[in-house]
Amino acid sequence: SLISSTRRKVVVGLGVTGLSVARYLARQGEEFSVVDTREEPPGLEQLRDELPHVPVMLGNNVQDVLDTAAELIVNPGISIDEPWLKQAVDAGAKLCGDIDLFVAAAKAPVIGITGSNAKSTVTEMLGAMIKGAGYRVGVGGNLGVPALDLLSDDNEFYVLELSSFQLERASALNLEVATVLNVTPDHLDRHGSMPRYHQAKHRIFNGSRQVVFNLDDPLTIPPLAADRSQVSWRLGEPDLHGFGLRDIDGEATLVKGFEPLIKAADLALPGQHNIANALAALALGSTIDLPVKGMVEVLRSFPGLEHRCELVLDHDGVRWINDSKATNVGAALAAIEGLGTSHRLILIAGGRDKDADFRALKPAVAKHCDRVLLIGEASDAMAIALDDTSELVCAGTLENAVGLARDSAKPGNIVLLSPACASFDQFDSYVARGECYKRLVLGAFDS
Ligand code: ADP
Repeated sequence: SLISSTRRKVVVGLGVTGLSVARYLARQGEEFSVVDTREEPPGLEQLRDELPHVPVMLGNNVQDVLDTAAELIVNPGISIDEPWLKQAVDAGAKLCGDIDLFVAAAKAPVIGITGSNAKSTVTEMLGAMIKGAGYRVGVGGNLGVPALDLLSDDNEFYVLELSSFQLERASALNLEVATVLNVTPDHLDRHGSMPRYHQAKHRIFNGSRQVVFNLDDPLTIPPLAADRSQVSWRLGEPDLHGFGLRDIDGEATLVKGFEPLIKAADLALPGQHNIANALAALALGSTIDLPVKGMVEVLRSFPGLEHRCELVLDHDGVRWINDSKATNVGAALAAIEGLGTSHRLILIAGGRDKDADFRALKPAVAKHCDRVLLIGEASDAMAIALDDTSELVCAGTLENAVGLARDSAKPGNIVLLSPACASFDQFDSYVARGECYKRLVLGAFDS
């Protein structure tokens, strides 16, 4: 009809993802426009530089453009519950995200990874395994390079980290392999409830040919259809063809069914949570027939990612660890339990609360932490939730917390920044928070 022929695609929300969508549509020769409710959105200069002919509308007067659009490709940073988006959908616009465009264009098998925590780690581990096996692979999505910027005819596989926000607006993705690594509360300020958050994550399984799940975490298990192949893993006795952990001659060993693969002690990354991550990566690699030997070699040397339980300094017997990426309770819990088994901890936590229930941290903090130094907006809520577990101090800023930790740390301690909160009250991002911590720690021993 006349209407649909004049209706356009509209990229809603610029930033890194919006920019990747704009570039992609331009490469396809499509007509489209970009809108952002901010006057100076991130990526604007780059867009004007790279694609000067694309119409851009900014600020509050964008409703007309939205209401007359054919398709809104909405940045994952924008809630799909925004009234102005709902109005546009009611007026006839179709809503989707960058991942819909990606799967429609990708010519190689796509492996999608979601979960509350460990997405980036497992995505990079699997990427390294696929490269190690000699294939060309595009690795990115919610981390690093946005999905649409990865597209290349040279790639033989894609590994995508997908967030719940990317998934909630995606149609059936029909992935070759899909997995949910774990489901613990996060982002409830935006998703509203655990059932909605869980449902968003499980959209990753729509149409997927193979599924991988964690036998120990029922919330990761999709409704099993007979026509889908499945591989499971768990931190314990696996099922017949699955991946797991078994005590062999007194040593915890990663296994595939009855076959031993590698001792847990030989993994490059420390902590129980990284054994789980290794098993998930092995299970995913097995779905695309990567040779097990090569995958195991990767695990022997995989160095880990910045800001995820990253060792900053080992000084006078005290280890300073940056886990700034632990932006929710489940992540901090994994770090505290993973590192607490071998060392007494001084924990630095706090930041912006995402309606989290910090009481879940209490048993682990009581067991492993000598001291807890609280920073940022969530300090009061955390102090109440962790009441009389350890010595609690409201340090206010990260700078104060590092100073207090330096003055009280004893040999054998780990000082762990694992905030269990978002960073946005005091920092631009978890990266800025982690960089700040590293600077402060290294600066504290400069003489
Ligand atoms: P994501 O991309 O999902 O945020 P990352 O790999 O960046 O995941 O890790 C984020 C944080 O999650 C880490 O800093 C660590 O504290 C925690 N973490 C890592 N592995 C696990 C796991 N298997 N289960 C729970 N938490 C984990």
